[in-house]
Amino acid sequence: MHDTALYQYLLGLQSPWTVSRVNLDVKRQCVDGWAEHLEDATWACSHCAQTLPLYDHAEERTWRHLDSCQFQTHLHARIPRVACGEHGVVQVTVPWAEPRSRFTRLFERLAIDVLSQCDVSGATRILRISWDEAWGVMQRAVPRGRARKEARVVRRIGVDEKAAAKGHTYLTLGCDLDEGTVEHIAEDRTQESLDGYYAGLTQAQLDGIEAVAMDMWEPYIQATWARVPEAGEKIVFDRSHIMGHIGKAVDTVRKQEHRALMASGDETLKGSKYLWLYSQENVPEQRREEFAALRRLELKVGRAWAIKEALRCLWHYVYPASGWKFWKRWYFWVTHSRREPIRKAAETVRRHIENILTYYQHPVTNAMSEGLNSKIQKIKSMACGFRNIENFKTAIYFHGGGLDLYPC
Ligand SMILES: [Zn+2]
Repeated sequence: MHDTALYQYLLGLQSPWTVSRVNLDVKRQCVDGWAEHLEDATWACSHCAQTLPLYDHAEERTWRHLDSCQFQTHLHARIPRVACGEHGVVQVTVPWAEPRSRFTRLFERLAIDVLSQCDVSGATRILRISWDEAWGVMQRAVPRGRARKEARVVRRIGVDEKAAAKGHTYLTLGCDLDEGTVEHIAEDRTQESLDGYYAGLTQAQLDGIEAVAMDMWEPYIQATWARVPEAGEKIVFDRSHIMGHIGKAVDTVRKQEHRALMASGDETLKGSKYLWLYSQENVPEQRREEFAALRRLELKVGRAWAIKEALRCLWHYVYPASGWKFWKRWYFWVTHSRREPIRKAAETVRRHIENILTYYQHPVTNAMSEGLNSKIQKIKSMACGFRNIENFKTAIYFHGGGLDLYPC
């Protein structure tokens, strides 16, 4: 077999394309192949697909292909141009690469596989490509995957916010809680951020929404009310967010009490911050005794913590009537506890209780997309936060969008 025939086969070129020449450069560890086409071939305009004769050629271009063993392999060709009556002189599309890509489709496929398994800098080393080239692969893959995605009804939606980096811009994410995929990303956490998602849905898709889990965040509430039919029965304020609010209040009680104790030289609460924020079962084994001892001291924060932990029962009920009864008991307890920060937090919860207890109809929480959350966390920590918000969005869709990313 001739080397040209071998490479024609390896590159997967078909008529009218052939490999005219192959060059092995041992010193540079490179294989270069040149593709040529039959002279009488006709070509389709890349805009309207009209078949036309050759007009001329563009400058020679180079595409990186899969390595030949240890040799980096490049394909060279001059792309034919046609003169279309409607679109003017345009380049035709070549079968081995996407327009504007400097990689062949097969190389791009490999790059997508590698990028989906490791971080960007790891992928650049394995693939021997640059940082910008790696991002280029992802930036082409995501719109391709999103364009291919078929419209479907997302029955249970989780709305969440993510900080791109510490103290930086927020993103609003809309997720399919059943599939564990990111369906929508928008900057900021305003009503518009979420409205953009709903606005892109058909009426049938909006009607098909059964539940939306979210934080008690007014802009998200407004956006959902404005677009989702019968939103009042579908919004479910997320358990972890509610426990987060109460947890913050417990922390405020601790801070106040700690300050008061320290004023008289009492260090009882020093270093205890996280113990009060854990749920009981998550207190680390080696600190359990210390925590139990602290709780026996009848501290204000101990009582606030007990109030917080008791609220977890709210999500254990099955029957709404029992849940409501429990809620009323809990709320009475809080309002008589004289712990101002906790009372205030409970007041916020009370104002939203109708759409917390919708949980009994729709047992959804954003924790359902935990796999997705940890993925996003990993993306963020690998990049040490994102200053470039577009890259962060691209990475989230790339890893969490459930998309078919390959070139066709
Ligand atoms: Zn045309």
